Parts: sequence; C-alpha cells; structure tokens
Amino acid sequence: MLTLRLHSEHDARLEEIPEPELRQGAVKVKVAWAGICGSDLALFETAPVPLDYQNPIMQESGPHALGHEFSGYVSEIAEDVTSVQVGDLVAVRPNFADGTCPTCRAGHPNMCDNYAFIGINGGGGGFSESVVVPADHAYVLPQDFSAQAAALIEPLAVAWHAVKLAKIPTDGTAFVVGAGPIGLSVVLALRAQGVSKIIVSELSEARKQLARDFGAQLVIDPREAEVVAAVREATGGRGVDVSFDASGIGKNTLQPAIDSLSAAGSAVILANFHGDVPLDVMPFLMREKVLTGSFAYTAEDFAEVRDAVVDGRIVPDALISSRIPLSDVLDSGIKHLLGEGRTTEVKILVSPSF
Ligand SMILES: [Zn+2]
Repeated sequence: MLTLRLHSEHDARLEEIPEPELRQGAVKVKVAWAGICGSDLALFETAPVPLDYQNPIMQESGPHALGHEFSGYVSEIAEDVTSVQVGDLVAVRPNFADGTCPTCRAGHPNMCDNYAFIGINGGGGGFSESVVVPADHAYVLPQDFSAQAAALIEPLAVAWHAVKLAKIPTDGTAFVVGAGPIGLSVVLALRAQGVSKIIVSELSEARKQLARDFGAQLVIDPREAEVVAAVREATGGRGVDVSFDASGIGKNTLQPAIDSLSAAGSAVILANFHGDVPLDVMPFLMREKVLTGSFAYTAEDFAEVRDAVVDGRIVPDALISSRIPLSDVLDSGIKHLLGEGRTTEVKILVSPSF
C-alpha cells in the first residue's frame, strides 16, 4: 500500500509498503481522509525522532508514517473485538499512554511520560491506505456522517481540551490569538461549551471571515488596531477571562495574550513555539495572572468532541480549505503549506482514494 514516511529532515517519501497486519484487540481502518497538521510540518522540517529510537509503547523503529488526524472505514476486526463492526465509519484517536507512569497515575494520560502518537512514533499513519489501531482508539460515527468532518475530530479535541482546562465561566470573555486550524477550533469549542463572548486576532482575510462565521463577536486585525487596547475597549476596560495563543509566533502574540487578561485571568498556550519568548513577568505578580499550556487530549475529550460533531453543537466542515489525493501530499500538501499555502489554506485533507 502507499504511505508517506519520514526518513530525515525534509525527506518524506511516498513508498509502497506491505499492508499492516491485524492483531488481537485491533481493527484495520481503510483511511478515508487525513488532515495535515502544523506539527506534520514541524516534523517534516526537523525530524526530531531518530530513526533507530523505539518509543516504549510503540516499540517500533523508523522510518515512521506521518498523519495523525484521520478517519476511515473499518475493513477488518480481530476476533476479540466487539465495540466496532466491519464497515463502521470511525475517527481514530492517535495518542497513546502507558497508564502506569507517575503522570498517568496522577490523572494526566495526555502527558504520559512515554506518550506516543500514531503518525509520529510508529503504528502507521493517516497518510496511508490502511492503518491498524487498537479498537478502543476507533471512535464510531453514524454511517451517514461526513468522513471529512470525522477527520477534524482530532484537531478539535486539542482545542476542546484547552477550553476545558481554561475553566472559563459561560458568561466570561475569551480572546483567541490566531485563527488557523487550532485557533478556529478553539472558537468552535468555546461556542459548544457555552461561551459566546469571543474575540479573535488574525491577519488573513479568509481566516478572519471564518472566525466571524464560527461565532467570534469581534475580529481584530493587528495591522489596523492595537490589539490589547481593542480587547480592553471591547470588555469595558476589564480584559478577558481567558486568552489562547494558537499562533505560536513569539512575544508578538504571547505578550498581547497576557496583557489582554483581566486580573486573575489565564493565558493558555496551545501552539508550538520555536525558541525562547522573553516576557514581562510583573503582571503575573501584580495581577495574579496565570500562564499555562494545553497538550493534546484525553480519551474523554475525544469522545466528547465526537458527540459534539454528531449532535451538531460543532459544525467544523468550513475548516477544510483543500482536498488532495495522497499521491500529492508532499507537493500540494506539506510543501505547499510551508510556502504560499501558509496564509491561504486552513485545513488540507488528504485521501488515498480521492
Ligand atoms: Zn504514562
């Protein structure tokens, strides 16, 4: 079957490899759609996992397939599997925890000391024709549900976890810095969790419009307005309860996220930052502000997002900006997103059968 595997920095190859073998407790998923994530771009550029490294959970050396946001139809199930049927449409939760480390035992499986992801550390990847996954990582959707929307459950779960973590009151105000796939998913998750006072800052016209369509009440263009002043004006001078930095650019985005907070407000980081970010730390002392991060999601988060897209509390389809065949994933997908597509695309979906 065709798969995209990462060999080293800037060296991902579309290769023919044998289909993965079904094993006990697992199901084989014929991939329908897989999203390209910002972390796929970072993996492509930096290849941080050495080829000979075996993650303790995956116990597999590289090269590993890429793609961790995907949906598909179950083509085979192991004899001992009862939770999933052949033919089911499923979204795959790609993250794994060992369940035994101190972090797992403390109730944080999303940050497991040995955490692994399908599409990063082994176990195949969504940029393939088929993937074998443990049955409890396959979340069943109604048969008539969109397989494209199902591929968006994974990035939505990242945002869902961050919004839950922020514990924002439903009458509170949130500020989202950056309306890329994750920032827009935060807007959707905020709305679905009952928060309606949402401010977004973003440069791209297309993304600004999507933020408005998804329910942002105010969209600020940092080229046209001073962001912190605009947020303060919109909140009667008080500032917001929670801010999310979904852009990961640096001080230019994180400092406004902090400066826009009310007293005792929380800023949540949920983007990859590259390098150090110098910050003015006095507001943490004088205004009891909190800076925290949000990493991935739990099984519970994933199931909650599945339920929210099924019952229509989240309608994420407009996040999809392009659909491309797996055979084009490098040029029209990853390399495009690292170039001119960075500002024009939101979510590119890839399909082996498109
Ligand atoms: Zn663990």
